Amino acid sequence: MDCRVGCGACCIAVSISSPIPGMPHGKPSGVRCVQLTADNRCCLYGQPERPVVCVRLRPDEEMCGESAEYALAWLFALEEATRPVEPR
Ligand code: SF4
Ligand code: SF4
Repeated sequence: MDCRVGCGACCIAVSISSPIPGMPHGKPSGVRCVQLTADNRCCLYGQPERPVVCVRLRPDEEMCGESAEYALAWLFALEEATRPVEPR
């Protein structure tokens, strides 16, 4: 499938540990990427500054579903399931 123009779910729900222009320490899950426009497009699309993780993430029926709401819920659930366990 192709990425749904104007979705932006993975640019909000996914935590990114590598630097993003304007976010030198990456971003936590649930924080909107500073490179995401108001209409949910990537300002860095096609540019070398776009993080490798963003270039590598491919749209997928299971992840993206048919709406941004679905994708957000799916991605938040994945983040929760893969969150490192806090040391006691
Ligand atoms: S969740 Fe899927 S459709 Fe939405 S922006 Fe990410 S890759 Fe594109
Ligand atoms: S750099 Fe672009 S693709 Fe990557 S999270 Fe930010 S807006 Fe999304």
